[in-house]
Order: sequence, then C-alpha cells, then structure tokens
Amino acid sequence: MLKTLRDLPQIQTLLDQPLIKKLEAQLGHAQTVAALRGIIDQARAELLDGAEVDLPAFDSYQFADQVKDIINSANASSLKPVINATGILIHTNLGRARMAPEAVEAMQAIAATPSNLELDLNTGKRGSRHTHVEELICALTGAEAAVVVNNCAAAVLLSLMATAAGRNVVASRGELIEIGGSFRLPDVIAQSGAMLREVGATNKTRLSDYAAAINEDTAVLLKSHTSNFKIVGFTASPERRDLAQLAKENDVILMEDLGSGVLIDLAQYGLVDEPVVADILKSGVDLVMFSGDKLLGGPQAGIIAGRADIIDDLKSHPLMRAVRIDKLSLAALEATLRLYRPPHDPTLKIPVLQMLSEPLETIRQRAHELSHKLTSLGIIDVEVFESACQVGGGTLPEQDVASFAVSLALPAMSPDQFAAQLRQSVTPVIGRIKNARTIFDLRTVRAAEVPLIVAAIAKILSP
Ligand SMILES: *Cc1c(COP(=O)(O)O)cnc(C)c1O
Repeated sequence: MLKTLRDLPQIQTLLDQPLIKKLEAQLGHAQTVAALRGIIDQARAELLDGAEVDLPAFDSYQFADQVKDIINSANASSLKPVINATGILIHTNLGRARMAPEAVEAMQAIAATPSNLELDLNTGKRGSRHTHVEELICALTGAEAAVVVNNCAAAVLLSLMATAAGRNVVASRGELIEIGGSFRLPDVIAQSGAMLREVGATNKTRLSDYAAAINEDTAVLLKSHTSNFKIVGFTASPERRDLAQLAKENDVILMEDLGSGVLIDLAQYGLVDEPVVADILKSGVDLVMFSGDKLLGGPQAGIIAGRADIIDDLKSHPLMRAVRIDKLSLAALEATLRLYRPPHDPTLKIPVLQMLSEPLETIRQRAHELSHKLTSLGIIDVEVFESACQVGGGTLPEQDVASFAVSLALPAMSPDQFAAQLRQSVTPVIGRIKNARTIFDLRTVRAAEVPLIVAAIAKILSP
C-alpha cells in the first residue's frame, strides 16, 4: 500500500528487480521503462488526489505481469477488425465496403510475390498498370477507355486539372456538394486551377442556364451526384441527353462525378434513383468518375471511364503519378470486377450487394438467434424489431432498406457505458443507441459474427 509520494519507488529501483530485468531483456529497455513510468505516474496522480494506492509488491510476479500487460496492449494493432452492427451498409468510419474473398485472395497473392504490375508479358517490355482493369471496366460500362486512381476525390481532381485548368467549369448551384472530410466541389474545382461558373438556383437549373454560361473559355460542364442529401419539391434539372447535346454543339466536355457508381440496376432491391454507369455513358456523358469501395463493393479506388481521347490525356498528366492506384488495390479491384461477369452473380459474390439483397426473412432469423443467445446470458430486456438500414457512403440518402434489429437495455449500465465497453472488446462491436436502448442491426452483421457479439457481451457482463 502506497500512502505518500515518498513511497513511490525510483524507476531504476524497479528495473533492478529480477523479474523486471527479465522483461526488459525480452521486450526492450524503452518499452519497459515507458510501462513502469505509466504505472508510477498514475500512482502519483492518485496519491495527489488523496487516495491510497494498492500496487502489488514490486518484486512479485503480479507486478511483472501488470507491466507485461501494459507493454502488450501498447503493441497491439491499432487498425483491427470490428463488427458493424450500425445498420449502415457502407460506413465510412468503419472502412466502407467489405471485400469479396476473391478480392482478398488476389490482394494477398500480389502482396506476397513480384507481379507483372508494369511488365508486358507478351513483349517483355515495360507495360502499364492501367491495362489490368481497363478492358474489364470498358466491358462493364460500355466506356471507350478507363483509368483508375487512388480514390474518387483524386479522380475528380485529376479529371478537372487535365481538362479545365485555366478555363471555366460550369456547374449547377444545386450540385455544389460537400461530401465530408472537407471535400467540397467548389474547392476542388479551385484546386484544379479551373474557374467555377455557377448556374441556376439551388432547386432549379435549366438547360438554358448552362447554355447561357458557355463561352470560349468554357472547358467542362460538370454534373455531380448529390450523394448525401436530396432536394425535393419544386425542382428541375436538365436531362443528361440534352446536356450532352449542348456540350457536343459547343465542343465542351460533359463530366459527371457519380460518387458511388453502380454497375447493375438496383431497382430490383427497391433502390431507385441510383443510375447505372453504363446508362449514364450511353446518354452521352463524356467522362464519369466513381468510387471502388462504395456500392461497387471493392477496394478504395477512383474509376474514371469515358472518351478515349480524354482518358489518354489523364494517363499522361503529371498528376497521374501522384494519384495512381497501388498494386494491392488494383489486384482487389480486378478480382471484384471479374465477379460482375458470368458465370458469377455479383449479388451472391460481392458482400455489399449480398447484404443489400439478402431476404428479410433470413435477417429476421439472425435477429432472433442473437436475441435468444442474449436472453441465455441472462439479459431480460431484449427485443427483436423491424428496423431500417441505410446504404451510407453518400448514396441513396432518401431510401431505407428494411431490416431486423435486436434492441436491449441493461439494468446496471447506461447505453453509453455499454457502447464504450463494446468498443474495447477483442473484436469491437459498433451498434447504435436509440431511446436509451442499444441496437444491433442484423443486415450489416454476418452470421459468423453473431457468436462474436455474444462473446463480447458475455465478457462485459461477467468479466
Ligand atoms: C464519395 C464521393 C466522392 C469521393 O469518393 P472517394 O472515393 O471517397 O474519394 C466524390 N464525389 C461524390 C459525389 C461522392 O459521393
């Protein structure tokens, strides 16, 4: 028992204990000292607070174990798997899309060995990393050409820089979006060296507004997906087809930042309003940009597809090198894109689409399974209810996806305290809180994760 500051030992005294000496030999001087300092500093703070401090004897196994635990937890991975029970399918804070096993395997293989990343195996000459996915993207979207960069934000920046630096970009006032992480379209346009020419009003922009804004300095008409909000009511914006016609007549480029970008029609799952990339290109848009890790369900990447002459300019632009995709993401993207082609069914193979299309009945059963297991742990106040999921990732802001969730309340712990403990589990569990209840949504939880949630809760209830 330590009662006064004078009872605190010197770090060197602790280092001289045989058990601590052994730890130091195993785990290093710096880490051992840091752990000892942590213990002593905390004890000092508690003593200053007027408390007595109960530490194991400094020469005991118990004390050495405590030091070892501190070192081990400081060495644990910071980035680790968590369970997404939020009901948001593409959760930006939780790493967005989970990838298909095929994509993960492709990444592992390419990570572990040399590859033909930039070697043409036919000629033996230098190749381009872009060739590995370009044909696939073209086949899936009908584009003439395509190129892939680090993410969609980079895709937008590169596209604008290469086509409109020093010239004008015309965009509707209703589409000058911020998507979060301080990505604001007007700022990105400014960064690209282009001048923004805003047209129309927040709710209505007509073809004639675009037409009136075009002059000899105009390089691009830019459309963008209003990813995370929706203007409803008295609204208007021109059809893509008409904008494309206007762009063509004036020899300017029509570009669209799609954000998510879907390759298959999701209307069959009740999700409308998310246009398919192929249809957008067919309507005459010259260039589209979209993310690899939103509804496409692959790795972080920014895909640019459209007119071959523009894509050529992008490939040779000096910024390209700075924003190019890395080999691991490229491997994962290629594998993901292949799952969109026969004989595969993307809705069965790609986790994001799998989760989106999973029958409600299966989710209901999973919710009941979780609820039963929680009841078996002795939790009394547990309920299953029909919930609403969101797609997230800045897509389909207005449209909920039906789901089932488990909600619970613990007598001895507030939902905030419970959430804090769930976050500290070996596999942290991230749910949500509503009306003072903890909620786990089962559309975003895979069957194999249910036992992990139960184990985490069991440990919290009886540590
Ligand atoms: C998400 C999004 C982006 C950015 O995509 P990242 O892949 O995160 O860089 C750009 N534009 C729109 C409309 C988006 O929704």
